[in-house]
Amino acid sequence: MTRSANLGFPRIGLHRELKKAQESYWKGDIDATALHAVAEDLRARHWMLQRDAGIEVIPSNDFAFYDHVLDTSVLVGAIPPRFSGIADADELYFAMARGTTTAPAMEMTKWFDTNYHFIVPELHKDQTFALDAAKPLAHYNEAKALGIETRPVIVGPVTFLSLAKAKDPGLDPLDLIDELIPVYADLLAQLAAAGAEWVQVDEPVLVLDLSPKQKAAFSRAYELLGAAGPKLMLTTYFGALLDNAELAAGLPVAGLHIDLVRAPEQLDAVLAALPEDKVLSAGVVDGRNIWRTNLDAAFGLVARAWDRGGPDRLQIAPSCSLLHTPVDLDGETNLDAELKSWLAFAKQKLDEVTTLTLAQKQGRGAAKAAFEASAAAVASYKASPRIHKAAVKARSAERIAFGRSSPFSSRRDKQRQKFNLPAYPTTTIGSFPQTRDVREARAAFKKGMLDQAGYDAFLEAETEKTIRIQEQLDIDVLVHGEFERNDMVEYFGEQLDGFAFTKNGWVQSYGSRCVKPPVIFGDVSRPAPMTVRWSAFAASLTDRPMKGMLTGPVTILQWSFVRVDQPRSETCRQIGLAIRDEVLDLETAGIGIIQIDEPALREGLPLRQRDWNAYLRWAVDCFRLTASGVAEETQIHTHMCYAEFNDIMPAIAEMDADVISVETSRSDMELLEAFRNFKYPNEIGPGVWDIHSPRVPGEGHMIALMKKAAEGIPADQLWVNPDCGLKTRGWPEVTASLENLVKTAKALRA
Ligand code: GLN
Ligand code: ZN
Repeated sequence: MTRSANLGFPRIGLHRELKKAQESYWKGDIDATALHAVAEDLRARHWMLQRDAGIEVIPSNDFAFYDHVLDTSVLVGAIPPRFSGIADADELYFAMARGTTTAPAMEMTKWFDTNYHFIVPELHKDQTFALDAAKPLAHYNEAKALGIETRPVIVGPVTFLSLAKAKDPGLDPLDLIDELIPVYADLLAQLAAAGAEWVQVDEPVLVLDLSPKQKAAFSRAYELLGAAGPKLMLTTYFGALLDNAELAAGLPVAGLHIDLVRAPEQLDAVLAALPEDKVLSAGVVDGRNIWRTNLDAAFGLVARAWDRGGPDRLQIAPSCSLLHTPVDLDGETNLDAELKSWLAFAKQKLDEVTTLTLAQKQGRGAAKAAFEASAAAVASYKASPRIHKAAVKARSAERIAFGRSSPFSSRRDKQRQKFNLPAYPTTTIGSFPQTRDVREARAAFKKGMLDQAGYDAFLEAETEKTIRIQEQLDIDVLVHGEFERNDMVEYFGEQLDGFAFTKNGWVQSYGSRCVKPPVIFGDVSRPAPMTVRWSAFAASLTDRPMKGMLTGPVTILQWSFVRVDQPRSETCRQIGLAIRDEVLDLETAGIGIIQIDEPALREGLPLRQRDWNAYLRWAVDCFRLTASGVAEETQIHTHMCYAEFNDIMPAIAEMDADVISVETSRSDMELLEAFRNFKYPNEIGPGVWDIHSPRVPGEGHMIALMKKAAEGIPADQLWVNPDCGLKTRGWPEVTASLENLVKTAKALRA
């Protein structure tokens, strides 16, 4: 029979119970026993929730305290030597994730194109592996004790090695595949012995461009693992298999899961390649977004898969683990009924999976009400004037020139005349410390305990203080400090039409850190200026140039849940037009320097290289749209955090910002290589202060970094600034560091 399946459930809990317990444990407020009790409780609750929703294939071992890739490092015994002295398992685990006073934490990076961060496995030249199957076995048995049979989930060996970092020169982690396979084989045998009929093996790298070596590793690994005991559900997600379809379908495993939300078009190719005796797991409910499933459309896909496979060959599932969605829509009391009718969180998505499965088994009539409700939601979304605004669509369809009115060289001359800045001008990236006072004032204002006038007065005082400090420090281009902003996307989303905010729509970003992405549900427009009041106020307090601060359209898009009824490029363009209006209003208000942050531009790159150009084209165009309406002498800045700039180099130059600031200090300016090689023509501020660390950088260190930057980049193109905004830092470090930063610039001038 067709079976309903789930691939993973959010771990944090509806009320972020796991986050709270972990943070208490780290502070020493609760002990390990109490922490484990909270986790066990959450697992039980989530298993029962899935069972009650009617899910037949329920995952276990999808729970992780910090991250499932870190769990995999522990599972295979890949413990970096610097942690080897730690005997206690919990202490060791969190030390790897968070570091200790003597051993820095393992690196963290984004999980494919999600906003979830995993802990990067570290591997050495003489690496050995040793199985520690305690956790998957314990969790499997824990569910069993509740009467729930589960399908354990593991990260597959090829994905594990592909994501790992070699800590020794000359080592390619993939060369360790033969060492790793026996460990996985042993694990699978133990799971089978415990009673697991199936195991879900996640191999999302199958949707990437694979090297011949990776492909060979797949064949080698699964030849053995396919026969190790349990049936394997080889699980792929976040994209299409494309040229890897034959490889994936041909591996000796019992089933293949594919993502039919991101890549519905791959169904036929995969069906054609998949041998008759294999189970297809059809991921038709979006695990990456919060929209309610169009059940008719999903059922169409399911039916096509079923026609070919027959009843025993099909599982119906979310596209990927539900880790990337919030837990439960029912708790959202702030959203109106209509908006809610368009959404589904993890719990609701499980209902969609079981509805589709029921319809597959017994005919659509058996799930009539659910299909009707879904169709009604689809129809109301399509027709709603809250979604579709003729004026926004008309404006977006207009042709607007993307480029500035003159080339950089001519703009630069005019800007130099106008601002008359010294060589190596100094500035900061925007935010200043969001102290407890600032957060408390905002909370009091939100709760109604502080009125608008009181809150504004508080913000004005903070802003003025920050300006005086920058003047005293003798910084050249000032900022107002961003005290009025909670978050660089939310602040804008709250003032734009077409955005909604959830009360409890948390998703895990890394470890105990969760984010609550805004929902872009409709056409985006800007009813009124958003930042002019604060920038103009700040500018009125000083004779120095005041930089206006905006978040760019690509970043706003990237850090939100985005509507799926139109291309992302179109939504981005609408946001771009709104920001363009803001830029022009700032200019009119006398703000001559405007920074449009695009820290998320690089992370928006598609997973497959063949799709990069199309993405970069529209992303860069949207940025240029925001920046190109201004006069020649208005100076446009942009900012990006840490990124592999090489991947996007011509695109960065095409953005044509007059000045770009980038995060480079921790890479010892190595990231500037991309700019140097490209002979980047505009001005650059390479970060000289690692703002992620409380350390105050010395003048000598910063001078050395700037000298390195000046090798190959003409000095008259360089600015001096920190890596990123200062909102997480405290005032004493900020003033001390900025003092050194200004000294650095002055020393370089002399
Ligand atoms: N202007 C923002 C700030 O300073 C930029 C933050 C970022 O790059 N992530 O906080
Ligand atoms: Zn940054």
